[in-house]
Amino acid sequence: MNAIPAAVLDELRRIVGPRGWASDPADVEPYLVEWRGLYRGAAPLVLKPASTAEVAAIVAHCRRTKTPLVPQGGNTSLVGGSIPFEGGGEVVLSLSRLNRVRAVDALNDTITVEAGCVLADVQAAAAAAGRLFPLRIASESSCQIGGNLSTNAGGNAVLRYGSMRDLTLGLEVVLADGRVWDGLRGLRKDNTGYDVKHWFIGAEGTLGVITAAVLKLFPQPQAIETAFAAVPGPAQAVELLALAKAMGGGQVSAFEIVPRIGLELVLRYIPGTADPLAAAHGWYVLLECTGGKGGELRADLETMLGAAAERGLVLDATIAASAAQAAGLWKIRENISAAQKFEGGSIKCDIAVPVSRVAEFIARAGAAVTALVPGTRVVAFGHIGDGNIHFNPLQPAGMDKAAFLARWDDVTRAVHDLTHALGGSISAEHGVGRLKREEIRRYKAPVEIELMAALKRALDPDGILNPGKLL
Ligand code: ZN
Repeated sequence: MNAIPAAVLDELRRIVGPRGWASDPADVEPYLVEWRGLYRGAAPLVLKPASTAEVAAIVAHCRRTKTPLVPQGGNTSLVGGSIPFEGGGEVVLSLSRLNRVRAVDALNDTITVEAGCVLADVQAAAAAAGRLFPLRIASESSCQIGGNLSTNAGGNAVLRYGSMRDLTLGLEVVLADGRVWDGLRGLRKDNTGYDVKHWFIGAEGTLGVITAAVLKLFPQPQAIETAFAAVPGPAQAVELLALAKAMGGGQVSAFEIVPRIGLELVLRYIPGTADPLAAAHGWYVLLECTGGKGGELRADLETMLGAAAERGLVLDATIAASAAQAAGLWKIRENISAAQKFEGGSIKCDIAVPVSRVAEFIARAGAAVTALVPGTRVVAFGHIGDGNIHFNPLQPAGMDKAAFLARWDDVTRAVHDLTHALGGSISAEHGVGRLKREEIRRYKAPVEIELMAALKRALDPDGILNPGKLL
């Protein structure tokens, strides 16, 4: 990668004005590191434009001078999608100052926000209007809407509300030649040809720079009930989900699987946690239902859990008696990743298979990784209701961490081969970035890669937008 000429950098600084850039190494540092520490990049300049017009001027100048740009939101990527390469030949484009809520249309159930809005602030703006913006992910207090869109973020409420793609009605995008596409429509119905917004959602900043979006809002749930149930295994968890959908009363809004080892690690390392049930069990489900009236929803949930127990799908269960107890149940689920760090090396796979094949996946993937590294502790948890499992082989107790992590490629290959064989995806919600760029080529049909490359050539012929990521 070539160094960027000083005159180009000067012009970029001039476009954004004195408050809109950073180049001091200490100021630039936070934009160069992926938070898990897998990647550390370099860049002579971080641009922080304050308007769509400034973004457009930046991109136009980069196009003229063939200067590569790396768009960045809250920099919470797990796959290296939002940081520059090590060569220092790219400019980081932070959208963080485009952080206005432009409009709330409560009767249309929409909110129009800029790309740099923090997800939690959008949730709060929706709540202030008496509505719900339902995207719920662990990084919500720091991730930004532009990144959520560029990675098609998923999380804990996809089962009920869909992923970011499903929550988006319109976009404003700066194209690679600096033109602005104003597609900020708040329409539920619009059959006027190609749905252009979907080209940019999940594109990881390689086709255009998203600057604003019209997002869907929903009614705030009248009642929420949260249960923690012990189940015989993943197969029974999937059957329990079907039963809960059929007779739950309200709607199942979250359905997460937790293995005993995940619970044990949380209890050992995360202060303020307790085992919700009296006896130990192999597997658990964290189930959330919303809707209906409070008392009725709870009664329906109790009836459903009783029926599930009669069928042998549930061994024991507790329903949270307060919001604080529900938060305690969610605290267990949300700390499974964090708790593993205290036990040494963990290999991260984020896969999806059809819900009907999740149990087979967990059994076969577990057998495959323990055959490769005997003693590996399999931590398989997460959004089983979406078929999305965070499959994290954890090093055998007492094994050298580096020696275990040295097996990363063989372990992920075995897991990904199985995922592919079961009709699944090797990246369910974290994207491709740098980490899985080669890997998607292994599993996608050549015709699909050709279609993606054709879109890239058409929209960014000089390859200035986030080069080397995704494709
Ligand atoms: Zn997740």
